[in-house]
Amino acid sequence: MIGSVVIVGGGIAGVSTAAALRMGGFVGDITLVDSGEFPYDRPPLSKDFLEGRKSLTEIALQPPQWYDDNKIRLFSESRATALHTASGEVELFDGTMIAADRVVLATGGRAARPPIKGGSSPRVHVLRTATDATRLRAALTAGARVLVVGAGLIGAEVASTAVELGCEVTLVDPVRPPLTAAVGSTIATWMHDQHVVRGIRTVRAGVESLHDTPVGIEARLSGSDEATTFDVVVLGVGMVPETALADAAGLEIDRGIVVDQTQTTSNPAVLAVGDPARLRRDGALLPRTEHWEAAQRDGQRAAATILGTTPPADTASWFWTDRHHRHIEVVGTMAGAERTVLRGMLGGLAFSVFGLVGDQVVGAVSIDDSKAVRAARRLIDRGVAIDASQLADASIDLRKLLRG
Ligand SMILES: Cc1cc2nc3c(=O)[nH]c(=O)nc-3n(C[C@H](O)[C@H](O)[C@H](O)COP(=O)(O)OP(=O)(O)OC[C@H]3O[C@@H](n4cnc5c(N)ncnc54)[C@H](O)[C@@H]3O)c2cc1C
Repeated sequence: MIGSVVIVGGGIAGVSTAAALRMGGFVGDITLVDSGEFPYDRPPLSKDFLEGRKSLTEIALQPPQWYDDNKIRLFSESRATALHTASGEVELFDGTMIAADRVVLATGGRAARPPIKGGSSPRVHVLRTATDATRLRAALTAGARVLVVGAGLIGAEVASTAVELGCEVTLVDPVRPPLTAAVGSTIATWMHDQHVVRGIRTVRAGVESLHDTPVGIEARLSGSDEATTFDVVVLGVGMVPETALADAAGLEIDRGIVVDQTQTTSNPAVLAVGDPARLRRDGALLPRTEHWEAAQRDGQRAAATILGTTPPADTASWFWTDRHHRHIEVVGTMAGAERTVLRGMLGGLAFSVFGLVGDQVVGAVSIDDSKAVRAARRLIDRGVAIDASQLADASIDLRKLLRG
């Protein structure tokens, strides 16, 4: 019988594991160890929190009382430093040992810092934690000259927030348009163009070097001999999965902690969830999913594995991003689509693009059109054959198409 579970990491994956365990009737000990102030949500760090519209307490994943109510022993500002798999214990930074019949690694990741010359200057920021966001917020004063490196999801959100705060923003990325694989070229182009509409200078380039001067930080961009001076540089170039504990415990690692479809690692007593977990399915390693809902579902799946109950049904992946007051949602995968269908007017108040293979929807992107994305998810999950002309007709209720 499993009497104790230790969850390392209090992000959405770790907290949803704990919640799903209790909701599933687990009566044993649950310990949640997290190195942050308390478990908080990460997406607002580039949006409301960075803009100063929400405080840290307002983005807590759960109120403090929730942990007591659910008998979850929370160790905040505490690091797990070793997994002793032979004895079934987790060691904390101060030597405390916690017994664990099962360990769930929910350790997330850290912001990538590519080896750019001059990149260790205090004017250079990354964004992963509330501490990062607080430091960056202090630097994003009106009129500040801000260079955002990387126009993917987080870079674009930071650029959008910075321009909202009155900064003078330059956004550089060597890829144009960024995010084509995730959202398809039509929407990727439209999304990138919105930066220009909002007054952001976009440059197709990478950063070659950075150099601190008394009046700012000089950035040399690829393809240019001239340096430009900024007050703030933000690197939004991806994340590195936090695998150190798993690695030291001898678990299989391959650019992530390798798990099977039950979230179990190469050690049957250790599970991994969220951003650092990398799924092996049918013998092939899939790319890691670095999105909020995927992390939450991993936690629910891990809890089902521990409880021996049925895991939540598989569903098409979904994520959202917000920029320039537009809410963008992506479901399924646009990368493999043979053709796309536009519903609504590109750039209108609400519109979507669906990706199709044959007569099946495989992915969709919606702008301020959550209803369309919800319907698309069901169309994908159920494999409903659709008529593309009906999909394109915004006067037809998508729920009608669901009936097949
Ligand atoms: C700025 C930002 C904006 C984002 N916006 C969106 C968005 O709009 N939409 C979307 O779908 N996704 C978004 N994401 C991605 C989403 O937030 C992540 O996919 C999600 O947070 C992953 O959750 P997690 O629990 O796996 O990891 P994390 O949230 O990283 O949590 C891991 C936790 O583990 C702790 N930890 C690590 N090692 C140890 C240890 N040894 N001991 C104790 N604690 C440890 C860390 O301190 C951290 O608190 C965003 C991410 C960021 C950074």
